[in-house]
Amino acid sequence: MFRQALLAASRSGGARRVVETAPFTRDVVRRFIAGETIEDAARVTEALTGEGLHVSLDVLGEDVQDKGQAEANVTHYLGLLDRLGRAGLGARAEVSVKLSAIGQTLAEDLALDGARRICGAARSAGTTVTVDMEDHTTVDSTLRTVHELRRDFPDTGAVIQAYLRRAEEHCAELAFEGSRVRLCKGAYAAPEPVAFTGKEDIDKSFVRCMKILMAGKGYPMLATHDPRLIDIAGALAVLNERDPDTFEYQMLYGIRPQEQRRLAAQGARVRVYVAYGQEWYGYFMRRLAERPANFRFFMRSLAGR
Ligand code: FAD
Repeated sequence: MFRQALLAASRSGGARRVVETAPFTRDVVRRFIAGETIEDAARVTEALTGEGLHVSLDVLGEDVQDKGQAEANVTHYLGLLDRLGRAGLGARAEVSVKLSAIGQTLAEDLALDGARRICGAARSAGTTVTVDMEDHTTVDSTLRTVHELRRDFPDTGAVIQAYLRRAEEHCAELAFEGSRVRLCKGAYAAPEPVAFTGKEDIDKSFVRCMKILMAGKGYPMLATHDPRLIDIAGALAVLNERDPDTFEYQMLYGIRPQEQRRLAAQGARVRVYVAYGQEWYGYFMRRLAERPANFRFFMRSLAGR
């Protein structure tokens, strides 16, 4: 109920106005979001990569409803990738792209064209792109787009959400050599017929998916903060005799930072997903929905404590 209410609020204009104008919101938002500009993103990326971590940068701004804004977001990604390339950060920092930020809602081809240009710029900067997975109604379109992108850019990362009932099927299709696949639980509201909604069922699905990806020939990117799932991932790496550079752990900026460093110190590859930009509302509300403690922290800040 709590999660569903916050996810509904993440798409409500009224709730957005209340949260965005609340006096202490910005302090809390800063815990999860790296700043607003390319320079903020570059500074955080330099700090994290300097500590031995990898990064995936996400430019905030989703559900774009007009062509001009979609084009502006593509242009922003091109500028970001140019900056990463010039700073020599391409080996450790890639980008994550939401197709809804670059026009998917308007036309699939528009998003594909923008994503192609972003992939080209990523290649020039010596790095890669992962295409985020969004609301369940967009999954087929997003997988089609990733498939198209991979014709020219085979290192384009796909994302599978374990809460989807079709997740295992998607894992089996994508566990081939050279295929970079992020596995996450899924952050959007999704109805029973298409998704598991109980935590236990979602966790079990995540384990089944991990087993397929870790036994397969691709490059699994295991995106979770869940200690039990991280332990199981480690056990599956041993079982499948995977070297540390054949898969990676991924976590969000601001969440379990000590665990990120602990895993990296043990020799694991750890990538931190760093979101930045002005359009932080939807992303921030999904983080609050994930954990009652995050929401309590937010409410305490609003109360000025
Ligand atoms: P949860 O069930 O939320 O948490 C499990 C456990 O993790 C908790 O019990 C606790 O022990 C620990 N934990 C969680 N949060 C905290 C915290 N703040 N502090 C301390 N411990 C904590 N979703 C999508 O739908 N599409 C995407 O493309 C996508 N990309 C992602 C990329 C990355 C790198 C990551 C990490 C997540 C991504 N997500 C994406 C979000 C994901 O689907 C989940 O909503 C989110 O990761 C929370 O799930 P969890 O696996 O951490 O488990």
